[in-house]
Amino acid sequence: MLFNKKKTYEQHDNEKESYYRHSIKPYSSEDFLEDYLEVDICIVGGGLTGVSSALNLVNKGYSVALCESRLIGWGASGRNGGQLGNGMRKDQFFLEKKLGFETAREFWNFGLDAVQYSIDLINKYKIDCNLQNGVISAGCFKKDIKYFEEEKNHLEKFYNYTNLKLLNKIQIKDEIKSNIYESGLINYGSYHINPLKFLIGIANQINSTKIKVFENTPITKIIEHEDSMYCYSNLKKIKSKRVVVACNGYLDNLLSNIRQRFMPINNYVIATEPLGEKKARELIKNNHAVCDTRFIIDYYRFSEDWRLIFGGGETYSAMFVKNSKNFVKNRMDKVFPTLKDCKIDFAWGGTLAITINRLPHFGTLMNNKLIYAQGYSGHGLALSTFAGKLISEKIDGKSERFDLFSNIKHLIIPGGDFFRRPIYSSAIFYYKLRDSIKYKF
Ligand SMILES: Cc1cc2nc3c(=O)[nH]c(=O)nc-3n(C[C@H](O)[C@H](O)[C@H](O)COP(=O)(O)OP(=O)(O)OC[C@H]3O[C@@H](n4cnc5c(N)ncnc54)[C@H](O)[C@@H]3O)c2cc1C
Repeated sequence: MLFNKKKTYEQHDNEKESYYRHSIKPYSSEDFLEDYLEVDICIVGGGLTGVSSALNLVNKGYSVALCESRLIGWGASGRNGGQLGNGMRKDQFFLEKKLGFETAREFWNFGLDAVQYSIDLINKYKIDCNLQNGVISAGCFKKDIKYFEEEKNHLEKFYNYTNLKLLNKIQIKDEIKSNIYESGLINYGSYHINPLKFLIGIANQINSTKIKVFENTPITKIIEHEDSMYCYSNLKKIKSKRVVVACNGYLDNLLSNIRQRFMPINNYVIATEPLGEKKARELIKNNHAVCDTRFIIDYYRFSEDWRLIFGGGETYSAMFVKNSKNFVKNRMDKVFPTLKDCKIDFAWGGTLAITINRLPHFGTLMNNKLIYAQGYSGHGLALSTFAGKLISEKIDGKSERFDLFSNIKHLIIPGGDFFRRPIYSSAIFYYKLRDSIKYKF
């Protein structure tokens, strides 16, 4: 079904089937929103953008109300592949061409800072989220090795980045026991983690009197009135000086038409039964995370209890696929045929926001009183966490770092609410076909 009247956050009940939800005691807040509340800042959305904004704003002395329609980590932040990658979703060649070398270099540094910021939080707050080093780009196509080599040389020469290791066909097979890859590139500056443990680890640090966390509290309307902002959750009302909107792919129609600048996409993940460390290391020798080079990527890694967490497959309608377990397992079996009989314990999906240029979409509305950050395009684990820091700087009057992102121009995805999903789906049809027929995956 393409059109559905339910909000995105109302539909995704399969979140409870997620391995991550099973892996940690849920965050639980006892705060309850009364009819009226006044705070400095109201944050809408309890994913990494919202929770990191809350942490940073509370640390700067602001009083904060964080409103989450369902549970903390309900959205993409609690459902993702756990790859804490540096850089942006697009490579430096693309950024240099689009923005010029100096600006591209600033974005590169942001990418590094974003990963470092997440690691600093993990270390500072002793967050037990199974931080592991190394992400492999696994080349599905013969031509990939040439690109990997060019990228490695370019980053070494112009960015002084020496954390990459090129793998030929024999070496990639030594790292990943699969027959489908032609080459690879290991990035030792990237990591992987259990994202929900990371998010709840951060949320648990904000137990100050300055914050109220309201779960099961959807914001249904935001209005500006004179010097103040009002967020409504049905008949209840929060008055604040500023509002942060951190709903990403779950935004729906809460804000004018900024949702037209990204495409909400559903992506799916499965978790196998625990395979044990020995078998896991037979498949991925050094316990790195992996993502491949297809248009619709496969991404996978091992969990703290040695389950293969395997993600892949996208859909564009308002609803999730009915049988996401088989949908993803078919992809996993092609990579690791030896896992055909392996039991799948968990299968879930999540919604992310993809912009046309694949760069994040930051901005302000309502005379700078409403600030939003979204559209991380599948590369948001580190960037959304870092966005919270930049949002707090912006609110505190230091705009430069936030504005580097908000100055990026984003095109509208054509088609409005009714046609953008089918239009987007047809626009990428060629790439899907190329992946599935030409390369027989
Ligand atoms: C399956 C999947 C795999 C991914 N894998 C990776 C990966 O490996 N690496 C990577 O870097 N990125 C990955 N991503 C992307 C990454 O997860 C996101 O970019 C990031 O988590 C976005 O965080 P966020 O806080 O902005 O949004 P979200 O985490 O989606 O949070 C938005 C929250 O807003 C809430 N909300 C919505 N509307 C309202 C409302 N009206 N009132 C109150 N609350 C509301 C929602 O319930 C939700 O909890 C993946 C995404 C998905 C879905």
